[in-house]
Amino acid sequence: MQAFEATNLYFDQAAALLDLTDNMRTLMITPDRELRVEVAIEMDSGEIGNFIGYRVQHDNARGPFKGGLRYHPHVDQDEARALASLMTWKTAVVDVPFGGGKGGINCDPNKLSRGELERLTRRFVQQIHDFIGPYKDIPAPDVGTDGQVMAWIMNEYAKFDGFRPACVTGKPVEFHGSPGREAATGYGVAIVTREMLGRLKKTVSGTTFAIQGYGNVGSHTARFLHDLGGKIISVSDAYGAIVNTNGIDIKALDEHVTVNRKVVGFKGGDPSTNEQLLTMPVEVLIPAALGGVFDATVANAVQAEVVVEAANGPTWPDADEVFKSRGIHVVPDILANAGGVVVSYFEWVQNLQHFRWTLDQVQREEETRLVESFNKVYELAERKSVSMRTAAFMLAISRVGRARVLGGI
Ligand code: NAD
Repeated sequence: MQAFEATNLYFDQAAALLDLTDNMRTLMITPDRELRVEVAIEMDSGEIGNFIGYRVQHDNARGPFKGGLRYHPHVDQDEARALASLMTWKTAVVDVPFGGGKGGINCDPNKLSRGELERLTRRFVQQIHDFIGPYKDIPAPDVGTDGQVMAWIMNEYAKFDGFRPACVTGKPVEFHGSPGREAATGYGVAIVTREMLGRLKKTVSGTTFAIQGYGNVGSHTARFLHDLGGKIISVSDAYGAIVNTNGIDIKALDEHVTVNRKVVGFKGGDPSTNEQLLTMPVEVLIPAALGGVFDATVANAVQAEVVVEAANGPTWPDADEVFKSRGIHVVPDILANAGGVVVSYFEWVQNLQHFRWTLDQVQREEETRLVESFNKVYELAERKSVSMRTAAFMLAISRVGRARVLGGI
């Protein structure tokens, strides 16, 4: 099964409980537009670098397409399609006025120099600038991209359409970004985790966590949970994992990662592996790396009570069934990691108004929106006796469907 098929299966599980015609279903799952572009650049060696970039615009019934840009060797059309579709449902779950889009470039950013990355990004913008913009499609960071890449996008886009900071979000704060955007996804994961534990009559303080992936989302999630008194007992990245059942000192780990660019080698824990992390005895497991982490076998071996999907698409449908049958609570990606797009929305609003919010205001409004969305999804799941994933899709499909009906085709 491929990622887009898996996303549509989750869509269908929810759609089956709603009054949706076949034509409406097809309209809602089919991407509006798919771009595939050649991104050729001159490498530092003087040779030609051949790369392919993608942008899938899934649905804009509720507003401009919105979604991240990923630089990774696994990026392809199907992955972009699946992630774009998830963005349609995610923006609807948290009720921000956007649709869903996603894209990326098939490359390994770790093997590119800064100059090559910049040329790659600018060339990509040259190829797709007609199709993006503040009221068309607004990219943001994802795996392998960051505020610097977003700054290059804004600068290159300006060459075609003038000063338009709202054409991209996740920019550095000193270059038209929003306070709190860089940490927003991790902050949101921590808030949603706190709410989930609250429903189970538990608190973050004293609860144990394992986090797979220690990039933007994983590291900020760890920091916020740690600040709330949570005990992070294992973390990992692409190079390996570390474990410390007494709780990892996250501040010391962050200092180690800043210098070494990886969690491996940190003195405040023992070496471990990603496989061990996923199946270790822990209360809350947080996948925060790539998709497709849980198949049925891994899901059967998971010992956590709660899985919070900070990554997009970490759970294959067969694993989702295993989690359901084993009574493991899964907070789905389209709710768990939506803090990023919520604050991207705040950044877009600030850019359009040329007005800066404070960090306090951003975090307060992010929290309010996520708590409201969490409560809606949780209560719908209880009322309909369905998983939180199905409830989140039901809520999203109703909102996107309503916009389609009101706006027409
Ligand atoms: P990132 O590039 O900053 O970090 C990714 C991390 O995952 C790195 O630590 C990397 O080493 C690790 N990793 C890669 N392959 C791994 C593997 N096989 N096993 C374990 N770790 C591995 O990316 P990010 O922005 O933190 O995104 C992480 C996830 O969160 C993605 O699924 C992304 O789609 C999702 N997400 C990101 C945002 C955002 O605002 N950045 C918003 C919503 C969702």
